[in-house]
Amino acid sequence: MDLNLFNTLGSHMEPLVPERDNTLRMYCCGPTVYDYGHIGNFRTFLHVDVLRRYARLRGMNLKHVMNITDVDDKIIRNATAANMPIGEYTAKFERAFFEDMDALGVERPEIIARATENIDEMVALIQRLAQQDTAYRAEDGSWYFRIAKFPKYGKLSGKDLEGIEDGARVDVDEYEKDSARDFAVWKATKPGEASWETPLGPGRPGWHIECSAMAMKHLGDTFDLHAGGEDLMFPHHENEIAQSESASHKTFARHWFHVRFLLVEGQKMSKSIGNFYTLRDLLLMGHKASVIRFLLLSVPYRHQMNFTFDGLSESGSAIDRLRTFARRVGAATPQAGTANATLSALIAEKTASFHAALSNDLNTAEARAAVFDIVRAGNIALDAKAVTGEDLAAMQALLAAFDAIFDVLVDRDDERTCAAIAWAQHEGREAQIAPHLLNTVSITDADIEALVAERSEAKRRRNFARADAIRTDLLDKGVVLEDGKAGVSWKRK
Ligand code: AMP
Ligand code: ZN
Repeated sequence: MDLNLFNTLGSHMEPLVPERDNTLRMYCCGPTVYDYGHIGNFRTFLHVDVLRRYARLRGMNLKHVMNITDVDDKIIRNATAANMPIGEYTAKFERAFFEDMDALGVERPEIIARATENIDEMVALIQRLAQQDTAYRAEDGSWYFRIAKFPKYGKLSGKDLEGIEDGARVDVDEYEKDSARDFAVWKATKPGEASWETPLGPGRPGWHIECSAMAMKHLGDTFDLHAGGEDLMFPHHENEIAQSESASHKTFARHWFHVRFLLVEGQKMSKSIGNFYTLRDLLLMGHKASVIRFLLLSVPYRHQMNFTFDGLSESGSAIDRLRTFARRVGAATPQAGTANATLSALIAEKTASFHAALSNDLNTAEARAAVFDIVRAGNIALDAKAVTGEDLAAMQALLAAFDAIFDVLVDRDDERTCAAIAWAQHEGREAQIAPHLLNTVSITDADIEALVAERSEAKRRRNFARADAIRTDLLDKGVVLEDGKAGVSWKRK
């Protein structure tokens, strides 16, 4: 079975087959590290994570490059406002970005490329373009890409170049969606801005040239797949194609993968509407990282998704059901002589549907529905104590394949919430922490173990006052102790 994916370039479904040595060479536009990432950003990175995980499950090797845009208009603006050097400013948000990616279980790409560490490659690419007059220097010392020299401009987004005025220019990184114009590849230094001394003159790179230079450096002139959110299709990706293909005269990325936008309660996320959420905002409200991951993956990447709080609570119940089922399957005793041909056939059918769904343009919704069909049928069979060893093994194999992609069965949620709480306390954002969190997950498993040991020791020394104080203290934090024959056990309320 091929892994069929929609290719924005040409707007058609196509099998994704690596060009060389069964290694998927892929590039995903990474974050601009000027603030904390919002859940829309993470929707894109989560679906790219599903793509890489499924490609690996299908036996491909991965060489995945992601850039970090650590110099651009917004960074310069915010760092100046915060009165910080841009390196210090971006380091903080890059760290936060990877903490959030880890919390959401997004795997790290094989290669992380920072714009500020690849200036030479960008300059060399602009020089190649300048030699053929495809890049030119303007009066103020900035360099522009001449789109009239690239007749295929618009092939990705379908933009029509009719009526484009040769030489009309734009120098901001993100510009009007309907204005195809010569765009800046190198921006001349402005007073007080970060700047590099280069053969092009003092300045800094434009955003578009960064991705072209870093993708070609690590993946070659032509590579298998390029990914990003749908907003990047034009002008960013169109400009990457123009720059790279003008220089190499070869196809840049063979396949383009665009994740559609996340809306919140039916609207575009915006700070003024008050529906703008970072991952940290949600963790501090008490929502679990795994639940957020599962919800953001519930709608296939090529459909817009509407994020709602009802959706989060449904996603939470779904994860509870899955984890309970996985525990039951793991602990069940095989019942010989209870062979149930209907159940065995259903497991085989749903395992096939799971793979077919993902192979059909990464349909995460159908893949998860197939697994829930088995949760339902499997629970009935387990209640009846009528499951053979073969059926248990087949259900375990399906759960393992499911978790290789969705990664929600192992509970690491408290750890992630604790980290968010510690961050909020460090940043003076205590007011954002939901009060019930402070009573429950503000204590780690290791701290609980230490207190339980201290209490046992206190009892042994007949210091019952101390032992009782520890019990009360843990209860306040939502931890219940049970003294049993086999010793003390504890659980969170
Ligand atoms: P940025 O840091 O703004 O460059 O964005 C990082 C990634 O998030 C890019 O691939 C964007 O296309 C993507 N993105 C931004 N907003 C959303 C959204 N609301 N839904 C999905 N993806 C988004
Ligand atoms: Zn990019």
